[in-house]
Amino acid sequence: MQDHRIPVFTHDEFLESYTKDPAAAPGRLEAIRRAIADIAEFHEVLPASWEDLRRVHTERHIQEVIREGLDRVASLAAGGAVMAALEGLKRPAFALIRPPGHHASADSAWGFCYYNNVAVALEHLRHLGHIETAYVLDFDLHYGDGTVNILGEKGYAAILNPQTENRLEYLRLVEHDLGAVRADIIAVSAGFDAHQLDWGGVLLTEDYHTIGALVREACTRLGIGCFAVLEGGYNHAVLGTNVRAFLLGLMGAPR
Ligand SMILES: [Zn+2]
Repeated sequence: MQDHRIPVFTHDEFLESYTKDPAAAPGRLEAIRRAIADIAEFHEVLPASWEDLRRVHTERHIQEVIREGLDRVASLAAGGAVMAALEGLKRPAFALIRPPGHHASADSAWGFCYYNNVAVALEHLRHLGHIETAYVLDFDLHYGDGTVNILGEKGYAAILNPQTENRLEYLRLVEHDLGAVRADIIAVSAGFDAHQLDWGGVLLTEDYHTIGALVREACTRLGIGCFAVLEGGYNHAVLGTNVRAFLLGLMGAPR
């Protein structure tokens, strides 16, 4: 069985170029929106609450983000992850958000990230008693150090960052790890910069479909939910197609 449309949580304010870094580049989110318009069911996000941010970040760090003038857009991104996570309990959902989050630690951030969107979302679910354990697949090109720092310390999440430049080995790693998952939810840090025409030069577009399908398979087997959150991906010419391929896999639909 396949889903007809996938819920996508986003906001027009993400279209604004809030900094000069490539995650904030003009046209980036538009490219994705265009590519997934016919398979997405768009929902407008609300900002994450102070309580949500404080479960993950120090007050000092939040004040720093406010001082940089980025609290509004970063809170909206974290809020989008929270909403996708809640919907993800029922059916696969995607947060089409920026700034990304996986390089944000409790008290610091780098790599175009400010708040750790995935960690904020998982902590929200845990606080409400929806989950006790979680599995995070981070297929962004870069190692999600912030997520590992935050969730590693909390101790309830297993995290996979496949780090290999061999494409087939990469897919084998993901398949093997997902095949052994024991968790109450799967969260995906979906960065598309490992693509062959992006910075990493490793994965093909069809591989994102494969990864999405593997996540869906694991969820079906375990009877659990999943959600995905946009991280990196910088070649606008292929980014939309890659997100689309991943979402179709997640929906149980052919490419
Ligand atoms: Zn990246």
